[in-house]
Amino acid sequence: MDQTRSRSPFTDVIHAGQAPDPATGAVSVPIYQSSTFAFASAEEGAARFAGKDGGYIYTRLGNPTTRALEDAVAILENGRGGLATASGMAAVTTVYTAVLEKDAHMIATAAVYGASRTVVENEYSRFGVRADFVDTSDIEAVRKRLTPRTRLLYVETPANPTLRLTDIRACAALAREHGLVLAVDNTFSSPILQNPLDLGADIVIHSLTKFINGHSDVVGGMILAREEALLKRLRKVLQLMGGTMDPHQAWLVLRGLKTLALRMDKAQDNAMRAARFLESHPKVRWVNYPGLPGHPQHELAKSQMKGFGTMLSFGLEGGFEAGRRMMNAVKLCALAVSLGSVESLIQHPASMTHAGVPRREREEAGITDDLVRLSVGCEGYEDIQADLAQALSA
Ligand SMILES: *Cc1c(COP(=O)(O)O)cnc(C)c1O
Repeated sequence: MDQTRSRSPFTDVIHAGQAPDPATGAVSVPIYQSSTFAFASAEEGAARFAGKDGGYIYTRLGNPTTRALEDAVAILENGRGGLATASGMAAVTTVYTAVLEKDAHMIATAAVYGASRTVVENEYSRFGVRADFVDTSDIEAVRKRLTPRTRLLYVETPANPTLRLTDIRACAALAREHGLVLAVDNTFSSPILQNPLDLGADIVIHSLTKFINGHSDVVGGMILAREEALLKRLRKVLQLMGGTMDPHQAWLVLRGLKTLALRMDKAQDNAMRAARFLESHPKVRWVNYPGLPGHPQHELAKSQMKGFGTMLSFGLEGGFEAGRRMMNAVKLCALAVSLGSVESLIQHPASMTHAGVPRREREEAGITDDLVRLSVGCEGYEDIQADLAQALSA
């Protein structure tokens, strides 16, 4: 990959890594639906296996359609390169496998994506891996958990569903000081709003399922690395473990990517207006949105993000019951988990995603009974507000 960022992400989502097809001039990157690639001669085959001519061998090891997507996101994130994966979780587990050795220790944000935590506790623990899940917005709390076996600092910011931020620059300084790898799950911000590699992170992870694809119709993931040596190590693990992406899946994500900047712009504008509306609504007790000046980390958001995002959470006056009533009353917002799509999606963690977690643990993680999470979509703002208003009065 030899392309660099242009002046605008609006341009890069459309052109980065996606030049017209050299064979046919096709403007849309073709779907190279082939599992294997023929060599012109025994000598060419040998050169390819020796990694000398950069050509394709077998789709698990690399494919031109998938490669276009990897280059595009790598340019947007300013990475040395990208690795597309079958799902966001395939990206997460590839990073864990590449970075952690037997009996290693990692420190992660307490509110990480549920499966990113469960896979450590249920599976990697069998290989002696230990993890501490802490409030990474408090850098001293992170420092206190360091051990001689700590290898990985794994951060999600803003965290879900509390919208609490972690200072990426401070984590990068700590990681450098102690020889740790800093990985940031950047799913919630997309490359349009936050670029952790520019702030000192070593690895960025995306669930492409969310903003980058953006249409609730594909599952996928991506890993980006700042340096060649780490990228090579990650690639080796991914190719061996087999969680690579299919070319048809890559093409669908490339199609979604073209409008990423436009979608973020519209959804973010909607989110800011929805946050202000909810803040002034009598049935809403509090609103968490980094774009509101009252958010405790509004200044940090301004210093490490290029926008405040499209995710917000709010608390209802009537607690748990009011949450359930609101879920049953929405008409435009889809009552669904996931996020980052063109449709507005709403959910009530206490009765849905986190219903199985004991209340005390839930509350410690900031997931109170009254909390509603909203992923604001690209609909007309007036319609979103009207739906929220009628659901709140139900
Ligand atoms: C969805 C999600 C994942 C997992 O991605 P899948 O594509 O569902 O495997 C990881 N991290 C975050 C923050 C997510 O929202």
